Amino acid sequence: MISEDEIAKYREAGAIVAKLRVDMLKTIRPGTKLLDIGEKIEGTILKAGAKPAFPVNISINESAAHYTPQIGDEKTVGDGDLVKIDIGAHVDGYVADMAFTYCSEKSPLIKAAEDALREGISVIRPGVKVSEISQAIYGSMKSSGCAPVVNLSGHGIGRYDFHGRFSIPNVPNNSSIVLGEGDVIALEPFVAESAVHVTEANPVEIYQFAQKRPVRMMESRKIMSLAENDYSSFPFAKRWLAKHISPMKIKMALLELERAGALQSYPVLKDMQGRKIAQAEDTIIVMDKPIVTTRL
Ligand code: MN
Ligand code: MN
Repeated sequence: MISEDEIAKYREAGAIVAKLRVDMLKTIRPGTKLLDIGEKIEGTILKAGAKPAFPVNISINESAAHYTPQIGDEKTVGDGDLVKIDIGAHVDGYVADMAFTYCSEKSPLIKAAEDALREGISVIRPGVKVSEISQAIYGSMKSSGCAPVVNLSGHGIGRYDFHGRFSIPNVPNNSSIVLGEGDVIALEPFVAESAVHVTEANPVEIYQFAQKRPVRMMESRKIMSLAENDYSSFPFAKRWLAKHISPMKIKMALLELERAGALQSYPVLKDMQGRKIAQAEDTIIVMDKPIVTTRL
């Protein structure tokens, strides 16, 4: 069972990202720099006394996930772009995982993603099967005339663990997993005009501690320590390292760490056919009356 204290921490993390969704939707417009969006969001999380659970993902159009602004990134939001902003914050390891999509124009794909998320949430109760949630999400997308990104899923959440538990697909499945009171999950439908299978692509901007390994460069040892301790083994951005290490050395050190198996990398995930993708995500505590921690 989940304790009141744990619920309070999930809620605290959730309130921070919920407010960020509202604030960012008010301030982002064509021409806004992605780097400014990322720094504003991560700075707000830290100021609120929480920590990022992963670098802000700002993935545009056919990129579905895992892009985060680069060191000195000059890219800006374009007219009509589908800008997926995926934010994670944690308080003492209790994670809020939330995403929304911004577009300067009215977008049926964004509405379809939000509707699918809401339909998924509507069936949550103690005793619900994962397959039932998936069916609700998928059915909603189909009735909107859209289709899912088939290889991206929602997931269970645990303390200091936001992706490792079980997955909640956005496509029909026979998952036998049944959710109980106090389980914490994130639902995250990704929609496109037809079914998409995303593939790994460049650039790689996000990494995560995997295991301690012997490495030669001093900078590699520094990054390994940051990854395990300062970032609590949560994913981190190449950009974050520039505060500690000369940008010239970062690339070489990351290469050494990846080859040694000390770090896992997260390449951008995109549709090679260039179809635009929208995403919506909330974190929910399963209860008779479910708690959506990431909504105000
Ligand atoms: Mn997310
Ligand atoms: Mn997620």
